[in-house]
Amino acid sequence: MSSKEKEEKLLKKERILVSACLLGVNCKYNGGNNYSNEIDEFLKDYEVIPICPEIMGGLPTPRIASERVDDKVLTKEGKDVTEQFVKGANECLFLAKKYDVKKALLKLRSPSCGYEQIYDGTFSHTIINGNGITAELLKQNGIEILTIK
Ligand code: SF4
Repeated sequence: MSSKEKEEKLLKKERILVSACLLGVNCKYNGGNNYSNEIDEFLKDYEVIPICPEIMGGLPTPRIASERVDDKVLTKEGKDVTEQFVKGANECLFLAKKYDVKKALLKLRSPSCGYEQIYDGTFSHTIINGNGITAELLKQNGIEILTIK
């Protein structure tokens, strides 16, 4: 490797997958986002790859809110959207592998992106221990999951 190549490598920022709603993309189920200045500040040292597993799985925005119920994901109206959630998770893993990404900053408590805490499937704002479908798949594949409280 030439010294120029070494220098370029050192200057290269670490890549990170980030829940797109945290960046200000209006991809939340209700058409809004979860932007925060704190997250923008945290990400300035990273090369950001935005992801929204629910959109990448084929769901529209806005969409009916969903929650995990064991291994399934159901909308508030009882429709099974597990297939779309699993597809979205696999697309995110595809990007992580393609671009050799080792970290993901994900939105708290989402049935896709939530890490260590999610809603319990009763749509009553009750929080339980557990992961969203995408967070779980990324974690299983050795990706470090970060959240900002
Ligand atoms: Fe945000 Fe993830 Fe929900 Fe998309 S799936 S809106 S990125 S929390």
